[in-house]
Order: sequence, then structure tokens, then C-alpha cells
Amino acid sequence: MSRAYNFSAGPAALPEPVLRQAQQEMLEWRAAGASIVELSHRGPEFMAVAAEAEADLRRLVGVPDDYAVLFVGGGATTQQALIALNFAAAGQPADYVVTGHWGRTALRQAAPYVDLRIAASGEAEGFRDVPARADWRLSEDAAYVHITANETIHGVEFREAPDVGEVPLFADFSSSIASEPLDIARYGVVYAGAQKNLGPVGIGVVIVRRELLERAGQPRADIFDYRLQLAADSMLNTPPSWNWYMLGLTVKWMLAEGGVEEFALRSAAKSELLYREIDGSSGFYRNDVAAAARSRMNVPFFLHDAALDAPFLAAAREAGLIGLKGHRVLGGMRASIYNAMPVEGVRALTDFMQEFRRRHG
Ligand SMILES: *Cc1c(COP(=O)(O)O)cnc(C)c1O
Repeated sequence: MSRAYNFSAGPAALPEPVLRQAQQEMLEWRAAGASIVELSHRGPEFMAVAAEAEADLRRLVGVPDDYAVLFVGGGATTQQALIALNFAAAGQPADYVVTGHWGRTALRQAAPYVDLRIAASGEAEGFRDVPARADWRLSEDAAYVHITANETIHGVEFREAPDVGEVPLFADFSSSIASEPLDIARYGVVYAGAQKNLGPVGIGVVIVRRELLERAGQPRADIFDYRLQLAADSMLNTPPSWNWYMLGLTVKWMLAEGGVEEFALRSAAKSELLYREIDGSSGFYRNDVAAAARSRMNVPFFLHDAALDAPFLAAAREAGLIGLKGHRVLGGMRASIYNAMPVEGVRALTDFMQEFRRRHG
């Protein structure tokens, strides 16, 4: 067996020790007589797994006590609709800052429920930068301001939480949660699908300031109600228990590796290696994002001649490097370098890129 270095954007690579432990516990979880996913979610075994995952996630990300953590099925896109339903009165304005594809998706999901306001957008410039804060047009009566902390496809990342005054800041952290220290107190809601940096696809987390849950949202079915979900320990219906268990293993691995401080150092080192290779390639490779807004997690890049894309991908695969094809909305290449990607993997990629450039330059 040979596992390649996997640069896939999501579902993405998981830490090998996590996969091994899951493999070991597949047939029987700790003398329970069955796999964890064969047991009732209300039983003591799974309840312990769920509680431990929450405690570990709180420790890893630094979630204050006045914030609730929900574990939700349906991924990040579903939350983009549910935040509007739960936190905006019908027709109330909500401000959106759009820095790429996922910001656009967030707009679309909220559109039926709020008076949508685009406070700023990088679209006219091809999403190459975060619009300057001074140019944002914020509404005073907005229910919230929404940003995408890291744009997974366009490779545009906020360096810090923008100041939006009294209005709660909501942020999609799907592709950058747990990659560096995060001051949760700056946000009203932080949400993330798991499949980039927290575990396998099928579960997400919503970290929400408890006080916001008391605010009137719109009429909604029980199953869409974050308050009820919290009161039911995220078990209003059968939760995705396998994914929750895997998320717990992944978070534990991150804590054992040194936590978010350590991953911030690794992410800086990995992304610097890649951007240096791209910028030093005399135009053979290209990344168009403004230097200060370049993502540390997702590095999109283009070859100077698109005819080389297919040979690049084929040779990369030969060299044990997979998942490099760019998203269809952007084309080109993309290297996603989440916490599970070791620096050796990125070095293998930059070595390969140099070699490919020598052969085709
Ligand atoms: C992947 C991603 C999404 C969509 O996640 P799903 O779980 O597929 O709904 C949303 N936002 C960002 C930033 C993402 O990276």
C-alpha cells in the first residue's frame, strides 16, 4: 500500500494515525461488543464519545463558556440558510462581504429569508483581494455581517476579524478552522463543515454566542431551530455518529500535535514554501491573489500554458501527488494544505514543480 500526498480541497486528507485508530476500532469499539456506529446515539458509549469530542474541540479552538457548540448534519451550505432563519427576522437586512465562490453561495442560501445587502464584493476584480474595510457599506439595522474567513476556491483569506461595530459578525470557517489561534469572542457565529480540517464529510460545527440564540429568528421547523438543537445536545434526530466520532479522533490528534499554535507555524511554513516556488518561477506558475490576502490553506495556481495542465496532473500522480486539479469555476491547479498535510508533502510538491518546470520551461 502506498498512500499519496493528497492535496484535495474537501473531502480532504485525514491524519494517518486517525485512520489507523478508526480501522482498529471498526469491528469493536473498546469492549462495547460492537462498532461505535452500531450503537444507540443515546447509549452511554456514544454519549461519551460526543461529549469528549465537544470538550476537545472547545479546548482546541478556544471556545468561551458563553458560546454553544452545535454538531450538525448537512454541511456548511445548510448552515448558510439556517443562520438566516435563526438570527434574522423575516425581511430584516443582513450584510454580506463576498470574497469568492463560497461567499456567493452564502448569499444565495440566505436570499429567501433576509433583505440581502452586499456590503462589499471582490467579484469585479476577480476575487483577488479582500475589499478594504473602509469601503464596506454596512447597514445599521443588519441582523449580522457575514464573511467567508477563507475562500477555499479563490484562495483569499482574511488575516484578522474585521471590526463591524455592534452588529454580530458571522463567519464561514469551513476551510481554516483550527489552523491558527482564533478569537471567538470577536464573532457571533463561527461555522464550518468538517471535511476540510476537522474530519470526514457529513458533519459540521456551529459555534454560537448563547445570547444570540435568544433573539427572535423566523418561524422555522423544529429541526432547523438551533435553540432546540442545543437543548437536545445536537440530537434532535439521529446525529451522524460516525462522523462525530471521527471528528473527535481528528481533534484529539491536533491537540496531541501541539494545537492551533503549532498548526499556525506549520501552515505559515507550508504556504510560504508554495508561494515562493510560484513567485520564483519566472511566470511558469502564477497566483493572482494580493500578497496580504493569500490563503494559507488553499493555494490556487495556473501554469503559463493551459496545455500543460493535463501533463502536469499526470506527472504529479506518477510522483505520488494527487488532488491538485483546480475547482471547475477557476480551472488551473489548487493545492489544499490543511492540518493533516505534513510539510514533507509540500516539499515533495515544490520539488516536483521545479522538476516539471525544468523539463517544460
Ligand atoms: C466546502 C465549503 C463549503 C461547503 O461545504 P458543504 O459541506 O459542501 O456544504 C462552504 N464554505 C466553505 C468556505 C467551504 O470551504
